[in-house]
Amino acid sequence: MPTRALFRSDAYQRSCSAVITRVTPAGIEVDQTVFYPLGGGQAGDSGVLRTEDGIAIRLADARKSKAEGATPDDVVHVPAPGFEDQVAGLRPGQPVLLEIDWERRFRHMRFHTATHLLCAIVGELVDGCSITADYARLDFAMTEPLVREAVESSLQGLVAAAHPVRSRWISDEELLANPQLVKSMSVKPPIGFGQVRLLEVDSVDLQPCGGTHVKNTAEIGAITVTRIEKKSARTRRVTLAFPAPAEVSLAAQS
Ligand SMILES: [Zn+2]
Repeated sequence: MPTRALFRSDAYQRSCSAVITRVTPAGIEVDQTVFYPLGGGQAGDSGVLRTEDGIAIRLADARKSKAEGATPDDVVHVPAPGFEDQVAGLRPGQPVLLEIDWERRFRHMRFHTATHLLCAIVGELVDGCSITADYARLDFAMTEPLVREAVESSLQGLVAAAHPVRSRWISDEELLANPQLVKSMSVKPPIGFGQVRLLEVDSVDLQPCGGTHVKNTAEIGAITVTRIEKKSARTRRVTLAFPAPAEVSLAAQS
């Protein structure tokens, strides 16, 4: 039984009950989870696992399971160092509560949605992507230079325009018939499950994506393009950051 990926239908769900299905050297697997596993450039979630008898195990990361017989949806919750004894006491069939570090995840969601806006602004294929709590980085396959100020002001404009964000499912066949929907060279669309999840930023961007996003671009809030680099002769790298709270209040005063 694959892990039910609750973050896919509701990225805002912060906790869930679950039943342990397997404990391996890599970590803990359960029947359903709110933890997004590292993938598609987006970092995995961290958080806490709690048992009914009050044991709390810190979870440092979530990954796609590589255990024998794992399906592509299986998630392994990686315990933080120092919790080996508590993990050794866990058993399949045991009910637990899972909670993600919400502040960290919400930053992933805001950055991830901002990278979709960047795709629309730049309009070139993506050849690399990294989304963390501290920055987001997108590599575009292009040789023309990009002007930082222009990209930043377009990005801030799309955030301020408060575009709704939604997901829907299409069949593998529909995606194969519409190859222009695929805008990434580095992350392959998840074909082979019968259905593909499309992420739509209303009237801005539409592409297959399995990550977590905010419901409206306004939730991205204050965001800056910190640098644009020529990563290689054929690649331009754009890095995004959230200004520190002090910088936001200074900008509001000026
Ligand atoms: Zn996405």
